[in-house]
Formats: sequence, structure tokens, C-alpha cells
Amino acid sequence: MRENTKLEGIKKLHKLDRKLIVLRKKHDELPNTLKQLDEAVEGKDKALQEAGGRLTALRTRYDASNLELKAHESEIERLESQLLSVKTNKEYSAILSETATEKADIAKIEDEMLLLIDNIEQQEKTIQECSENKRLAERDRENHKDEIAQEQEEVSRSLREFGSQRDTIAAIIAPEVRHQYERILKKRGASTVVPVIDNSCQGCFMKMTPQVQAQLLKNESIIYCKFCSRIIYLD
Ligand SMILES: [Zn+2]
Repeated sequence: MRENTKLEGIKKLHKLDRKLIVLRKKHDELPNTLKQLDEAVEGKDKALQEAGGRLTALRTRYDASNLELKAHESEIERLESQLLSVKTNKEYSAILSETATEKADIAKIEDEMLLLIDNIEQQEKTIQECSENKRLAERDRENHKDEIAQEQEEVSRSLREFGSQRDTIAAIIAPEVRHQYERILKKRGASTVVPVIDNSCQGCFMKMTPQVQAQLLKNESIIYCKFCSRIIYLD
């Protein structure tokens, strides 16, 4: 099999292009990783703010209940002093009945307040948890930030390095071959140049005709798969 220099050049070029494709993908994805870490912190912060808002609402309700309680207590005091100056049994029992209603109201409010105290304690625990979660997310972001920045730098450096190697190889490939290759590369990416194994194109897995098989064996020019247009060769 004599050396097919055009094919060898294209294979070298494709090897670099495959590396460049992976690197470009990484280069585009790294800022997303950073963004996801930021979003995680934002999410935890939002949960903390919301939990804080709920605690404030609970405390406001507790204070309102407390005021209500005090109003009922002073009403009872008023009724008790009124009791000293009543003249008839009817008035007396009316005041007792009113006092009983006030006391029932107070009992109800006190039950609600106990429940609110439970809820407030629960909410304070939730806030502690939210605050810890936020701290962990921030730590996670800090730990990864430098790593990501370093990786970004390495990827950029590799992109420049392999890019310049690619330019050198591309310059010695016949322009018409290179342009055809680059057209296919746009569509097929990392699988632009594929081997034929067991008589099937490894890009589209179609069987090669005897005529193409013969061309592949001859190995004298660039051969394109008739089905998917990829550049094919015998491994
Ligand atoms: Zn094919």
C-alpha cells in the first residue's frame, strides 16, 4: 500500500480538530459551571430570605395576639370593678356571663399563642438550617472558583497551542482537499474522517460497494462515503 499523502495530511488535521472540538466544548461549558455555583448560592439565599420573612410574619401574629390578650384582660378588670356596683341580680349575672365569654376568648388566644411559639421555634431552626446551607454553597463556590479559573486558563492555552499546530498542518494540505474536508467538518464534527471496518463506514454504518472497497484498497486518493460524505479509509 503506497502512502496516500493527502489522506495522511487530512488524518493529522482531523486528529487536531477532534482535540479542538473537545476543548472548545469545555471552554464554552466552564462559565456555565461557575454560573451553576452562583445559582446554588442564590437559591440558598432566597430560601433563607423566605424563611426570615415567615419568621417575621409569625412574630407579628404573636404580638397581635398578645395585644388582643391584654385587651381582654383589661376588659375583665373593668367588668370585675363594675361587679362591685351592681344593683340587681340580672345585672350581676349579665356581667358574670360577659366575664365568662372574655375568659373563654383569652383561653382561645392563649392556645393560639402556644401554637405560635412552637411555630416560631421551628422557624428559627429552619433559618439556622438555611443559613448553614447557604454557607456550604458559598464555600463550595469558593473552593471551585479557583479550580475553574485555572482550568479555563489551561483550556485556553491548549486551544492556542493546538490551533497553531493545526494552522501549520493545514498550510501544507492542498486547498481543494482542505476546503472539502472543512465543509464536511462543519456537519460531521469529530467523526469527519472515519475508518471502514468489516466493510462498513463507521460514520453511517452502510456497507461499501465492491467498487469503493477496491478504491479503499488502492489507497491513492481521498475517498468519500457515498451515503454520509465522510472521508473514509481502511484501518
Ligand atoms: Zn458513511
